[in-house]
Amino acid sequence: MTLSAVPAWQFSSAQGEANYQAALRQYPAQAIVDLAAMRDNMRHLVSVVGGPQSGTAVMGVVKADAYGHGLIPSALAALAGGATWLGTAQSHEALLLRKAGIGPDRCHILTWVYNGTQVPFDELIANDIDVSVGSLAGIDALAAAARKVGRPARVHVKVDSGFGRNGFTPQGFGAALDKLVPLAKEGVLDIIGQWSHLAVADSPDVPEFVDATDQQVATFNEFTQRMCAAGIAPKIRHLANTAATLDRPQIHFELTRPGVGLYGYEPDPAMGTPQTYRLKPAMTLQAQLGTVKDVESGHGISYGRTYLTPQATSTAIVPVGYADGIHRSASGFDMQGAKHITKLGGPVRVMTEQGPKLLRVSGRVCMDQFILDLHGSAAEMGVHEGDTVELFGPGRGEDYAEPTADDWARAADTISYEIFTCLRNRIPRLYLHAPEVLPPEDLAKLDPASIL
Ligand SMILES: *Cc1c(COP(=O)(O)O)cnc(C)c1O
Repeated sequence: MTLSAVPAWQFSSAQGEANYQAALRQYPAQAIVDLAAMRDNMRHLVSVVGGPQSGTAVMGVVKADAYGHGLIPSALAALAGGATWLGTAQSHEALLLRKAGIGPDRCHILTWVYNGTQVPFDELIANDIDVSVGSLAGIDALAAAARKVGRPARVHVKVDSGFGRNGFTPQGFGAALDKLVPLAKEGVLDIIGQWSHLAVADSPDVPEFVDATDQQVATFNEFTQRMCAAGIAPKIRHLANTAATLDRPQIHFELTRPGVGLYGYEPDPAMGTPQTYRLKPAMTLQAQLGTVKDVESGHGISYGRTYLTPQATSTAIVPVGYADGIHRSASGFDMQGAKHITKLGGPVRVMTEQGPKLLRVSGRVCMDQFILDLHGSAAEMGVHEGDTVELFGPGRGEDYAEPTADDWARAADTISYEIFTCLRNRIPRLYLHAPEVLPPEDLAKLDPASIL
């Protein structure tokens, strides 16, 4: 008998269950992604901006393989939830969306990261993909590509309102307008948008952050005035990420760009929990235990002996490591004796015959595995090789003891974004509720083996 720390998954069919069993044989860890949660998160974000008729559209940001959740399934769930735009950083991913058959009749796509010299602007224009420009070299390259393709390029002018990353600075904007205006008049560039990005997730309790965002908004508005005065008024202004979508209605403009909210997380645990914002984390990361054994007190665990068992105990192998994207910085230290150092490792929910137990990475995370001190006898707890444990999930309440990606972020000194975007694709992504969320023509775009 094996125990499981995750809920009994609801399969959509016998084939879905067979896919699950096949995934367990393929790899000892799986990322289960709930497409209904993702759709509902997007529905909620659309309602936050006032609904489909509000004049504010919502973009599902699906960069970085949809924050590790899988590009195509996540994009389709976002559309099912009412997104009318999709956004990717890399142009490669924008093209993949169109190649998957998500056409311009269904949504606009915006892409924003490239250099002006090697980017396939011609392919992007031909595929009805909107592009951002934020450098003079970018404008030249885009104009050349539009002439070659014989179609105007749909452009979003990126302005640096204070983030200090991409976009024209106020000082450099005059030169940009000198190039943009004649190209717009000639019909080579279709100036669709003006956009920028915010540096801090709004933290209403930190006046300095609120001021910085206020300043960015004022600068953003000055850029708009300069575009209007130059005769290239943007049709669509967009500035809000998830944080501003949730708590800055004044800057929703014509479009907002939530990313992490689509996947069910608030941008910063200082703002609260996902539940505070009626969001539900979509991904559960589970794994099946390898060797379970008894060890004596004071036994060194893993590289560097950074963890010595405080008592006689049992240990269990969790067969994922930093080569899977489990951060080595989420290692757990407990060194007894003279050099007593303690540091909590990443949390793992383990089921025992007495109920769920929250355990921690014990010792260093290795390349393909890490170790858990079970803090007791495996035989007494009924814990066995092959049991399913949960690294993180939606975070079902206090008593349930379910870690979230925020808890892993805390243990690894990072942010939830990095926890899920780092998960390698050798961990199978499996999709719950796909037939319920997606129309048949969309369902057909998924890898059939990934549907639960
Ligand atoms: C990633 C990103 C977003 C989404 O940010 P979240 O904090 O995940 O909502 C929006 N806009 C740009 C330009 C981005 O790079």
